Amino acid sequence: MERRVYQCDVCGSERGQTNQWFIGVITGRTDHQPRLMIQPMKGEEKAREGEEFFHLCCFKCVLKCTSDFLDWTLKTNAGG
Ligand SMILES: [Zn+2]
Repeated sequence: MERRVYQCDVCGSERGQTNQWFIGVITGRTDHQPRLMIQPMKGEEKAREGEEFFHLCCFKCVLKCTSDFLDWTLKTNAGG
């Protein structure tokens, strides 16, 4: 079986054995209720319908993903 190699969606680094990664999940982009959730990455989480996944290797990349999301909501006025 092939093991999937995850890459950070912000900085592109590859996932090692030990380091704790996070997943940023964005939902509601299309129904004007955008939300960003951050959760620890455990294994083979898969995006469901309407979800966007961002694999994040460290706090710095989590923060970058968060600020990009906030930026996007302000630019598109998605929140209201
Ligand atoms: Zn990263």
